[in-house]
Formats: sequence, C-alpha cells, structure tokens
Amino acid sequence: MTSEIEARGLLVNGIVQGVGFRPFIYQLARRHGLTGEVANTPTGVAIHVEGPAERLNAFQHEISANPPPLALVIEVVSRPEAPQACTEFRIVHSRANAAMATLISPDVAVCDDCLRELFDPADRRYRYPFINCTNCGPRYTIIEDIPYDRPATSMRHFPMCAACRAEYDDPLDRRFHAQPNACPACGPQVRLLDADRREIEAADPVAAAADRLRRGLIVAMKGLGGYHLAVDALDAAAVTRLRSRKLREEKPFAVMSPELDAVRCYAQVAPEDGALLRSIQRPIVLLPKREPGPLAEAVAPRNPFVGAMLPYTPLHHLLLREGFVALVMTSGNRSEEPIAIDNDDAFERLAGVADCFLVHDRDIYLRADDSVVRRSAGSTRFLRRSRGYVPVPVFLKDELPPILACGAELKNTVCLTRGRQAFVSQHIGDLENLATYEFFQKTIAHLQRILEVRPELIACDLHPDYLSTRWADEQAGIPKVRVQHHHAHVVSCLAEHRIDGPVVGISCDGTGYGPDGAVWGGEILVADAAGFERAAHIAYVPMPGSAAAIREPWRMAVSYLHDAFAEELRELDLPVLREAGRDRVRVALEMIARRFNSPPTSSLGRLFDGVAALAGLRSRVTFEGQAAMELEMAAGDGDGEAYPYAWEDGQPARILPAPIIRAVVEDVLKGAPAGVVSARFHATLVRLFGELAEAVGRRRGLQRAALSGGVFQNGRLLTGLTAELERRGFEVYSHRLVPTNDGGIALGQAVVAAHAA
Ligand code: ZN
Ligand code: ZN
Ligand code: FE
Repeated sequence: MTSEIEARGLLVNGIVQGVGFRPFIYQLARRHGLTGEVANTPTGVAIHVEGPAERLNAFQHEISANPPPLALVIEVVSRPEAPQACTEFRIVHSRANAAMATLISPDVAVCDDCLRELFDPADRRYRYPFINCTNCGPRYTIIEDIPYDRPATSMRHFPMCAACRAEYDDPLDRRFHAQPNACPACGPQVRLLDADRREIEAADPVAAAADRLRRGLIVAMKGLGGYHLAVDALDAAAVTRLRSRKLREEKPFAVMSPELDAVRCYAQVAPEDGALLRSIQRPIVLLPKREPGPLAEAVAPRNPFVGAMLPYTPLHHLLLREGFVALVMTSGNRSEEPIAIDNDDAFERLAGVADCFLVHDRDIYLRADDSVVRRSAGSTRFLRRSRGYVPVPVFLKDELPPILACGAELKNTVCLTRGRQAFVSQHIGDLENLATYEFFQKTIAHLQRILEVRPELIACDLHPDYLSTRWADEQAGIPKVRVQHHHAHVVSCLAEHRIDGPVVGISCDGTGYGPDGAVWGGEILVADAAGFERAAHIAYVPMPGSAAAIREPWRMAVSYLHDAFAEELRELDLPVLREAGRDRVRVALEMIARRFNSPPTSSLGRLFDGVAALAGLRSRVTFEGQAAMELEMAAGDGDGEAYPYAWEDGQPARILPAPIIRAVVEDVLKGAPAGVVSARFHATLVRLFGELAEAVGRRRGLQRAALSGGVFQNGRLLTGLTAELERRGFEVYSHRLVPTNDGGIALGQAVVAAHAA
C-alpha cells in the first residue's frame, strides 16, 4: 500500500449551487481523511483536494454517485495539481459573480428532516408553513434574477432573524446558504381571508381552512407555483359546485392525499408509481381508480384513471393532516387561463369561484403548474412537465448556438439553448387568450435573464396564425426559422436520445400545419435534424366545420363514413347519425361536397375521434383529446383482432381509412361494444404502422424508429407499436424527458433551427 500524497483539482458542473453542495464536499473530504478546499466559481464548484490516490478516487466517485438530493452533477473534470501540504479541508467564500453559468434547481418537496421539525412541538419551527433547508423548498419560482442569492429572490423582503442568520452562515448547518431560510419570527405568514378579502380571525388559519373544507366550501390556496382550488374530494356536492363555478365540465381534477396509504384507498398504486408519488418532484401521477371507491364521481367523470399527488409544501402537509383522505387540488384559474400566482390577481380572477382564500406573503415570480406523469410502455412519461422538473435542461449531443424556440399553440412550452443544454420551459398553456400570451412572453424574458442567453436565432411553427409564430415574426433584427410541426416532434425525440438520424419517424397527433396547407397528423417521416421527407400519411378527409369538427367528433364520423360509403351512408342506421340528427348530418355532407370550411386532414387524432363517435362513446367533447382518451380506456385489458387495412403506394404512400371504417361499422351494426371496437382499432393501428414503417425502413436502409406526437400519450398504442416495431427489427425511441405532446415540440424546433442556420 502506497500512501504517497497526491493533489487534484476538480471542477464540478451541474446544479451545484444553493443545494448544499459545498458542505457535502466538506463532509465527504473529511470522511475520507482528505485536505484541501472547495469554492464556488463562475465555471462551477472548484475543489482542490490532497491525499492518497485510492482515497481521492473514492472521493471523486462519490461526488457523482451520491450528491445531495437537489444537486445534479453533470460532469466532474479532474486534473493533477501540485500538493500544497494543506492541513485541513475548508470551505472558501464565494468569489464575485459565482453563480454565472451554473444551473438553478427546480422547486422540490419539503424533505423528511424538515417535516420532522414541522411536527415537533419542541422545535422553533413547529407548524411553520415555510420551513425549508438546503435540501428542499422553493427555488425556480421565487427567483427574479441571478446570481441565485437571497436578494434576487422573493425572500428579500424577509430579513433573517439572528437564529436564522446563524444557520445560514454555518457551513455545517443543514440550512447553510438555504436562500429561502425563514422561521415564524422573521419569515412569511399565512392568513385566511373571506371572499371579500376580510381577514378571518383564527388562532390557526390552516385549521380554520380545513374546517371550511369539511363544510364543503371551496378554498383557494396559494402554493409553490401558483394558486390551487381545493375541495374535499369525497364531497360530491362540493366537487360539482367547483366544476360549475370553474366552468370546467368534465376534464379530470387532480387530487392530493396526506400519504401513500390514503392514495391506496381510491387507486391502485404499483411500487413504481409509489416511488414516483414520493419522489422529490412530487408530480401528479395517473393511476387506475379503485371501483367502487370513495372519491366523488365528479372528480374524474367516466374516467377509469385518477391523477393523484402527495403534499409537497409544508402548508399542504399541515392542511392534509387535518383528517382528509383526498382534496381536489386543481389549478387556481377559470377555464383555460393560466394559474393565478399574485394575491391581487387571485382575488380578481377567482372571485365567485372560491369561498375563502388561504394566502401568504411570499411572492411567486414565475408560475409553475403541477407536473403530470403516467407510466406507459415500461417508462415514466410526461403529460405535462413543469414544477419539480423545470429548469433542469435536456443535455444535447452537440453544442448549439443560442436559440429560442417558441413552441406550438396548445400545451405551449418554449425552449432556450445554451451550449449543449436545452432548457424547456414549464407548461405555459394554450395560447388562445391574452393572459396565456402574456405568460408566454414573461417566461421567455425570464428564461433569457436567469440563463443569461441572448438568442441569435428564433425557431417557430410553420403555422402562420399561431400566436407563438406571430410573436416570433415581431422580433426585429433576428433571423427566424419556421419548422414543420411533425418534423419538430420527431427531432425532439431524437434530441432527447442524443441521436442524429435519419430515422423512420412516426409522428401522430391531432393538428399540425402542413406545407401544403392541410392539417397533418398521421405521418411517417424519414427525418433528421436537417430535413424530412413525407414517406406516408393517412389519406386526407375533410373536417366539416374545421375547429367545430374537433369539438364535435360526430362530424369526423360523418366525414369518414362519406369517405368509406359515399352516398350509401344515408342508408346506415348508426347511433352516431341518429344522435347527430338528420339535418345536421345533411349540412355536414353539404359542407364536405362543397369543400366549404372543411380543410383536409391526415390526422390520426381525428381518426380516433371519428372511431370513438362511431363506437357510440362520444359525439361531442369538452376538452381536446377526450374522445381518443375514452376510446383507449374503453378497451380495458382485452385483446382484439386487427381490422382489414390498406395503403396506396406512392410518394408519399397514402393510408386508406375506408377499409377500417367499413369494418368498424360492421362491428357496430352487429352490436359490438365500444371496448371490442377499441381493442380491434388499436390492434389495426399497431399492425398497419408496424408494417408500413418496416416497408419505409427497408427501402431507406433504416433500422431506427422514433415515435412522437400527442397520440402517443395513448399507452396502449405506444406499448403495442413499440413491441411491434421491435419485433420487426427496429430500435424504437420514444419520449422520456419531455412530453410527446406539443409540450415537447420546442426542443425539436430548436435543434432543427440549429441545422437550418
Ligand atoms: Zn428540508
Ligand atoms: Zn428567523
Ligand atoms: Fe403536435
């Protein structure tokens, strides 16, 4: 054994500031009996460390293997240095501008150490709703500027008391440099206000709010990334009242429960789902409902799934432990506007919705909705990537110039690149109202400021009427690149897997603007970042009534029936036609015949809608994707035999919906239940896209396939098609880091733009 002393310089990059990283290094070095020092520098955390080689190796290994909970170590660069005969290990004070180029942590759930103190009557923070430490609490949502330091956060209005200051300054304290550190003596406070904004006198505002929830009232509650509206999820009348006041007919509400065992009362929780629920990101996890269960039906009407989450702020813990099994926790907004974050704004916008307001005086600078995940095809998939995950970047294969990508129209997110890092923003929402558009602009400005990036290029969708495209057009003096929607989807998938392509890209969703002006959405593209070729698509059918055909799937059913049966469709005795009524069907057929307000579409999302309507599930929807979702869920666990299918070869090949539609009609006329039609329809798509992708791949010598687009939120299709393509020899890529829906599209836009520049 040699014990010759060596010295190394280590530079650690990633999320390593404000997350207890230097104390962690300090303790790690001491445990390994090493000497030296650690400091924050503009390029990362710099360590000088001395000792025997084998101990240095173990030390270095543990930096990446076991970092503090909030840290994300991207790389540790090591080089030999001259030993300086250090006698101890110490933490050196930060040099000026130390936060430059390092990464900001997302907001994460309160940790177990803090929870223990929260419920310890002897602790000075007993029941203090803003308890936090270096390992937990708010980050991204309270930062106004960099460097990430208390004066640049909304905690700057709360000067620390002597006790808090001592913790903050002590490198060995678990609150060392915890920027949101506070206590009841010096920090933010909660108050309960009535609908007229008068304070409700109560010794404990949280207990008073719980009391109102038990009486069936609606409480607006300020959380981490915005306001929630809460009601008791077991109280059917209260949940129904919330629906009518919030103008939200059927879109499911998420619920929050005090602990995992409570979730098990109403949902099936697989071990992996349990781990997700308890992770520090605390997303909403979609779980199969237990039927019959205690939740009010109105929480997630006609839906076999429920979105559940566990408490993530101390305030949630205090409230949920007042004896609730589950509280509805839905975004504090009306209909589709962004979630309220500001107290004034909340009172204005939630007036008439909430009966009382549980507020506090720690400002939220940037809203962040709850993230939503679902396990499917063996992995966790994002339906919405927001609080808890943003602003962790996606690490790209290559360095890109600074690019701002503006995303699409629905489920908008934006993306800003810096070197090899792509920062996909939190969920912004549907860019269909002024409030969301303002949030979009604010998020762009905020990301540019805290990342210190000035984009040299702007990427946007090809659709001329998207607000995001218009915003891009208005930015003077900076080149723009317009990216086709489905191309961006596929490249987003390639980017997160760090592969170049070309691949066989199966890009399926509801709506995306095609260069020919048609509404695309059932596409097989041979694509890489540099370009794409449309190898195949679903043959065009008209959308009678345009946007109305999205809200009313019976219109798509009529269109596919017309495509399959022409005039004979009048002789069909189908429930969907009876329900729509003869007059309306006649008008839709006239629109189709005259091509009036009936844009052609190749959308697989619309085909799902049409089949759902034919199967008798839905003639109308109250939120986007509802019919397709219900069709997926109707299938249950059953298997189905594929319907006949066909395509016409060509450049591009055209998938013909008619044989599928005729077979669906035959089943429906025979009285087949919706579940059978659904299972068979899914099996058809799996076979069809598998076979066609293989034909395209063989012709082009490609063995990799990428699946992207909102349709792949469908777990049955994703799982089935992945297996089918693998069986046919493909390596299959799908989304794990960003949503497969339009929430992931900005990433692909940025990468395409970099190659077009
Ligand atoms: Zn903590
Ligand atoms: Zn204090
Ligand atoms: Fe899309």
